[in-house]
Amino acid sequence: MLRDLLIDGNLFGNIQKKILEAEDWNDNAKSETNILEKNVLKLLRKKRSLKKYKKMGVTRTDLKELIELAEITNLELFQGPSNSELSSLHPEWCNNCGRCCSESSPIFIHKDELNLLIMFNPKLETEIITNEYYPEHFRFREDKPCKFLDIEAKRCKIYDSRPQVCRYYPLMMIGSEDKARNIINLRYNCNYATRLILEKSIILFDEAVKRLK
Ligand code: SF4
Ligand code: SF4
Repeated sequence: MLRDLLIDGNLFGNIQKKILEAEDWNDNAKSETNILEKNVLKLLRKKRSLKKYKKMGVTRTDLKELIELAEITNLELFQGPSNSELSSLHPEWCNNCGRCCSESSPIFIHKDELNLLIMFNPKLETEIITNEYYPEHFRFREDKPCKFLDIEAKRCKIYDSRPQVCRYYPLMMIGSEDKARNIINLRYNCNYATRLILEKSIILFDEAVKRLK
């Protein structure tokens, strides 16, 4: 019910379908997303008690649907902040667990940042190879864990000149260059992703309740 106040059902279905196709959603990604949704739901219920809104007909299903909407849409659709605006306001959401650096593969390097990266880190020249998935990109030869992760300290050894993809994580681009979309990597064990989805869900909830009133 609440989600219908924000977005047409068909439009939501189409966006979801496109994202799933572009991301090549597999069973692992689906189960990761399910866990993430459960975690966000638990946190959202602490922030917005269902009891308070029960009389208005708001249910647990409404919260789940808003979380799904927060996962796949940009709040700019509702005159809200973009994913990157929200993320840049909350660097504390990253708890420096180091999982993105130890579990991501491949680690993309766009052709336009290649020269700059090598200029700051001449040793990288032999560590960067062609990216077989996307011709516009290169990748680190070694990942999972990334060779530049100090595993003990959970710190990046080339932090100041790390690739763009690392700077924006858990945001990432999908699709071709001309139809690229900025999405959130829905990893349940990433605190940054969890907090970002939670923040978006709260904004969507408040907006939907305003429209309901
Ligand atoms: S971005 Fe997420 S996975 Fe990476 S270090 Fe921060 S909290 Fe951990
Ligand atoms: S370059 Fe640094 S930030 Fe990027 S994946 Fe490797 S260790 Fe992590």
